[in-house]
Amino acid sequence: MKKILPGLALLAFTNACGQETADPKETEVWTPVPEQITPVVNNHPPSDAVVLFNGKDLSAWETEKKGPVKWTIDKEGSFTVKKGEGNIQTRQGFGSCQLHIEWRTPAKIEGEGQGRGNSGIFFMELYELQILDSYNNTTYSNGQAGSLYKQHIPLVNASLKPGEWQSYDVVFTAPQFNADGSLKSPARFTVFHNGVLIQNNVELKGGTVYRGQPSYKSHADKAPIVLQDHGNPVSFRNIWIREL
Ligand code: MG
Repeated sequence: MKKILPGLALLAFTNACGQETADPKETEVWTPVPEQITPVVNNHPPSDAVVLFNGKDLSAWETEKKGPVKWTIDKEGSFTVKKGEGNIQTRQGFGSCQLHIEWRTPAKIEGEGQGRGNSGIFFMELYELQILDSYNNTTYSNGQAGSLYKQHIPLVNASLKPGEWQSYDVVFTAPQFNADGSLKSPARFTVFHNGVLIQNNVELKGGTVYRGQPSYKSHADKAPIVLQDHGNPVSFRNIWIREL
């Protein structure tokens, strides 16, 4: 050890000399200047976000057959899945994005496993981030809350009790396809559940499937965000998205 130390000291001295001779202006970059926005303050959406639900109406949404949404608008500024009315989707299409969404599974526990507080968010109509009451509720790990359904298990279970509001903050990178329809780059997800990192830039093998192995099929650059009617009265509020 003692023989190495003088060498390290000399190296550090040389580096220090090099840094002193370089003009710090050489490594300053002044453009582009990032746009000034209003960030998230008191849980209000940032100024450059598209607000998908403002607590009042579902005008940003439609049924999968492009009809009016019949899910229930709640008095406290949220809305709730109406069993049998089917999935709903954004009128606008999105590709890569940052999404904030708050959700709540019913306080009264009914059902078990996948039948308890099940909903989900499909990005580009295809890639599902699971919503489930996963508080003391055993199911397959790659199907619990915060899983990328049947593809990625969340790093931890950050679930709150049923009846409490929870949040997802998601960075979704859309897949890219070559002109011949083959995959150029896969879909990727980073997800925070109630502020905790649960999916760290994971790669999907294809669209979400219930049976069998996922695979990619070429699709458009933008497609709706879909919320799932899985028959359970899951509620939502404060939904906003930023295109990336
Ligand atoms: Mg689901």
